[in-house]
Amino acid sequence: MEKSSKYPEGAIPCLDHGFIRLVDHMGGDDAIVQSARVSYGRGTKKVSQDRGLIRYLMRHRHTTPFEMVEFKFHAKMPIFVARQWVRHRTANINEYSLRYSEARDEFYIPKKEDIHFQSKLNKQGREMEKVPDELKEKVIKYFKEISEKSFALYSELSEDGIARELARSILPVNLYTEWYWKNDLHNIFHFLSLRMDDHAQYEIRVYANAMASIVKKIAPIAYEAFEDYVIKGMRFSGVEQNLFTQKIPPTIIDDILGDVIYNIVASLHRNKPKERDELYLLYKKNGGQDSVEDFELKWSAGEIRTGNVREFRELKQKLIRMKNDVSG
Ligand SMILES: Cc1cc2nc3c(=O)[nH]c(=O)nc-3n(C[C@H](O)[C@H](O)[C@H](O)COP(=O)(O)OP(=O)(O)OC[C@H]3O[C@@H](n4cnc5c(N)ncnc54)[C@H](O)[C@@H]3O)c2cc1C
Repeated sequence: MEKSSKYPEGAIPCLDHGFIRLVDHMGGDDAIVQSARVSYGRGTKKVSQDRGLIRYLMRHRHTTPFEMVEFKFHAKMPIFVARQWVRHRTANINEYSLRYSEARDEFYIPKKEDIHFQSKLNKQGREMEKVPDELKEKVIKYFKEISEKSFALYSELSEDGIARELARSILPVNLYTEWYWKNDLHNIFHFLSLRMDDHAQYEIRVYANAMASIVKKIAPIAYEAFEDYVIKGMRFSGVEQNLFTQKIPPTIIDDILGDVIYNIVASLHRNKPKERDELYLLYKKNGGQDSVEDFELKWSAGEIRTGNVREFRELKQKLIRMKNDVSG
């Protein structure tokens, strides 16, 4: 069987013969900010403000500005991966045609370390329990046997003049196909959130992770926001929130709330430095409860994190709501 083909320039190799590469793109972080300004006015100018705006959009799921950025990828993947990928309906796709061209002798053969037992808990997953080496060898042998045999039969039918569109259906789903895939950043983030997740099949995750590394370079601020709010962000159902409010004592919420107020003051001070005597007033204005002595101690320790003021204020509101729920 023919071995791995040469990868096109800039391609990130995926699995044994596959790859993904960026063919073209339109815009990046700038395009998101530019389109958002149409709805929010001319306000933001500096990189830090652009970052704040992009994070705000992501946090509040104001998604259309992310649709202004477009990516066109060229990817080569086994058909069973393409079957999952193609479910993402918002993309524009053009695939290699096995009606028009001859199939190529390229099949996915899993690596030993990627062969696992069927998970007992997750019907769509793999178990981490170790598969004996002989069984792994059998899996690889069968993959190779069926790939070679089916390709030989396909070639024979082709040589007999049978239509390619019919002969191709004898080929298994580990055969490689390739396509151009164009989509916008909002829908790419949706794709990545589903296909980089542990619940997605390993083979498609490889492509999603490679795609993510490309997207991150083109729109680093948007990617950072996506990572913070979507990948690492957590949402809690009503039932889960009830559990929290039943178990978390109000004093703990007060402690966190107290810290957030320090975060707000430190961030305001970082954005526009204040005189020392103004700081305590600002702290009190934002709802701080500490005495001036305690405030001075904490401030002098220099351990207060700064960040986006609006984000901290939103967190403060959430904590107040939570405290009210806890207090009944
Ligand atoms: C872990 C995992 C397991 C899966 N298991 C299965 C399975 O067992 N069987 C199976 O069939 N599929 C399965 N899928 C596929 C899944 O159900 C979705 O089809 C796929 O993830 C695409 O998601 P989407 O529709 O949100 O994305 P897209 O098609 O990209 O759509 C993006 C968004 O656009 C909107 N949209 C697009 N088209 C329409 C439309 N026609 N009507 C209304 N809104 C639309 C929706 O809001 C949608 O979320 C699985 C996916 C994952 C990630």
